[in-house]
Amino acid sequence: MKIYNTLTRQKETFVPIEPGKVKMYVCGPTVYNLIHIGNARPMIVFDTVRRYFEYKGYKVDYVSNFTDVDDKIIKEAILENKPAAEISEHYINECKKDMAGMNIEPATKNPRATQEISGMIDMIQTLIDTGHAYEKNGTVYYRTRSFPGYGKLSHKNIDDLEPGHRDEKHALKVDGAGEKEDPLDFVLWKPKKEGEPFWKSPWSEGRPGWHIECSVMARRYLGNTIDIHAGGEDLVFPHHENEIAQSEAANGVPFAHYWMHNAFLNINNKKMSKSLGNFFTVRDISRRYDLQVLRFFMLSAQYRSPINFSDELMESAKVGLDRIRTAVTHLNEILADAPDTPATPSEQEKLTEAGKFTEAFETAMDDDFNTADAITAVFELVRFANMNADEGSTKAFAGGLKEQILKLTGVLGIDAEIEEGLLDDAVEKLIEERQAARRAKNYKRADEIRDELAGKGIILEDTREGVRWKRA
Ligand code: AMP
Ligand code: ZN
Repeated sequence: MKIYNTLTRQKETFVPIEPGKVKMYVCGPTVYNLIHIGNARPMIVFDTVRRYFEYKGYKVDYVSNFTDVDDKIIKEAILENKPAAEISEHYINECKKDMAGMNIEPATKNPRATQEISGMIDMIQTLIDTGHAYEKNGTVYYRTRSFPGYGKLSHKNIDDLEPGHRDEKHALKVDGAGEKEDPLDFVLWKPKKEGEPFWKSPWSEGRPGWHIECSVMARRYLGNTIDIHAGGEDLVFPHHENEIAQSEAANGVPFAHYWMHNAFLNINNKKMSKSLGNFFTVRDISRRYDLQVLRFFMLSAQYRSPINFSDELMESAKVGLDRIRTAVTHLNEILADAPDTPATPSEQEKLTEAGKFTEAFETAMDDDFNTADAITAVFELVRFANMNADEGSTKAFAGGLKEQILKLTGVLGIDAEIEEGLLDDAVEKLIEERQAARRAKNYKRADEIRDELAGKGIILEDTREGVRWKRA
């Protein structure tokens, strides 16, 4: 298995620290809002990476944090006139609902920054004791030039760095920045301002900087050295660079062997932003599509290529997913009446031949998780099944093909098997019929249809814009 490692800028063969195990840390969202479809990309991509490792027989320890202390959360708390903890709690719960809709496997552990403060204080103290950090008026700074490897992940030369830039994303700017020994130094702890949440520390009543939380949570739940650390490409600098500086200075060993970064999702070839009015939350999309379609769309590109979100591409993802589901539904129909006899010799040959699609799938995934090519292999398998299975097939044959489709789509986190007659098209036809019944004041029939759909796990929601539906 090869993984592109941002640290070495090369595809490298994956060698785990412990045979058969993968320790993986993925930077999670800051919870001050519903997650947007950009945030969904690393969630889906790295969940698929995890599933592929599991398919290959590894046990994966998957840790992903929630950043629940941050200037943006505090700002939102002031705006809504609620405690910051209530804001983050609310959005963590909403985020988990979206993740379930996108079929993200629950993490082994979802630590929250606010519950890890004492570990952060310990690590900051170690950094002070070893000369890697210093305190000025209640603020603690990391002495960036004290870490010889600084810049190795982002491939930046320390002398070319522009001081302080981009740290604004997570608003680590502090008053009196002039008190830093060096403009490159970054904040590990900062004193509270009036009305802000705070924790006691040896330096001041205050709160941690953003970078220290991931160093501490990765160490606590996975150990000093982990296999894979992942996140979106905007995190390479300064966040991950700073994590390396903190962890390696404090622990004295390499932090992560492989660093993986997903490219960005754009909308109609533009950066997604609220001010451009092209900003979608996962919740917005869930009102228009089954979130499995969003997942399938996200995996239609290799994770290191930018992906463009548009209505046309979502429609084509929906058509593609339907094609797979239709094939499985058809196989189920065949299976219902097929004779329960062993596969015939020619069927046996075909099943062996179909193995080449699994091989192609694995070759694609082994090459730095090329889900785009892996999906192509699934489509080819589906076409093969459509061409070769029919009413005359044995259970062993139709069942073998179905199992193979489900195995591969399962790695992608896609549910290919849905109840008979419940393809999107069928649902939409029933909804139309229900609307027609209501217009004709035939409420009995309208209710029957609602119940029939409910029985098959389809939930209807009447809104001003019409009827929306989703799978339970
Ligand atoms: P944040 O809450 O801003 O820290 O982001 C959480 C995760 O989402 C990080 O891994 C980001 O890199 C990632 N992310 C944010 N915006 C996008 C985007 N437009 N495309 C892909 N990943 C993104
Ligand atoms: Zn992080």
